[in-house]
Amino acid sequence: MTGDAGQLYGAVEGGGTKFVCLVGRAPDAVVADTSFSTTTPEATLGQAAQFFRTEQAGGRTLAAIGVGTFGPVDLQRGSPTWGYITTTPKPGWTNVDVAGYLHRTLGVPVAFDTDVNAAALGEWRWGAARGLDSFLYLTVGTGIGGGGVVGGQLLHGLVHPEIGHLRVPHDREADPFAGACPFHGDCLEGLASGPALRARWGRPPESLPADHPAWPLEARYLALALVNLVCTVSPQRLVVGGGVMRQPQLFPLIRNQVRALLNGYVRAPEIIDRIDGYIVAPGLGGRSGVLGALALAAAIGGD
Ligand code: ZN
Repeated sequence: MTGDAGQLYGAVEGGGTKFVCLVGRAPDAVVADTSFSTTTPEATLGQAAQFFRTEQAGGRTLAAIGVGTFGPVDLQRGSPTWGYITTTPKPGWTNVDVAGYLHRTLGVPVAFDTDVNAAALGEWRWGAARGLDSFLYLTVGTGIGGGGVVGGQLLHGLVHPEIGHLRVPHDREADPFAGACPFHGDCLEGLASGPALRARWGRPPESLPADHPAWPLEARYLALALVNLVCTVSPQRLVVGGGVMRQPQLFPLIRNQVRALLNGYVRAPEIIDRIDGYIVAPGLGGRSGVLGALALAAAIGGD
């Protein structure tokens, strides 16, 4: 839905370092937006609520609010803690009722999902995954997370996918770094997140030159994970975003490694002949998450 017609929705992208909120109906129809640092739950959610209350007081009626947040989160409808951030290691944010608080404070229906599923939904509706039945979205930054759509439905299950914590082969002779995940050490996130790069090489990843050995190694780990996902889900496209992926040299390295690892076994022209269009950057840039939260709201608000 584009243009001026239609209902207005609220959107919240809740990140570990920053919250982004907006009011609108589509990427080209955003009427207000704001962002602020993530501090305590009370202050941060209070700031989000205040932003929407000001819009409501100015005469804007919100049909629904969509929230995509860091987690882990409870997505089980009917659970007493649905809409909560649950067991996060982030101090102060354990068992925080995000959806319920916004619903009670603002009096509008709230849709709730993980930040990466929201971003996937944004890419599906308006970005690099339009028209597809099955695709995965991966973000590589402070952490690694993944979500997506399979058979036309956002990926949900027992809890939600934790693609960042996939196990990938780790050759300790080639890469003695032990890994940075507090739960698993050398899972994918432990080996390939921004903090893992910083810990392994002793400097911020954005300061490493394009020909630094960090990048082929990074591409190797990400390609191993993507190959596992290709073999499991058979997605029609892989959308890969996040701060670490702003290194332009990474995409060609990853595509080459994915093709080499699959070794001609998956006989899809999308992979064999057109991999540049198969492993792609987000179409919405850094706004996939908050626009996806807008799409979440629209999905329960009547659009
Ligand atoms: Zn892990």
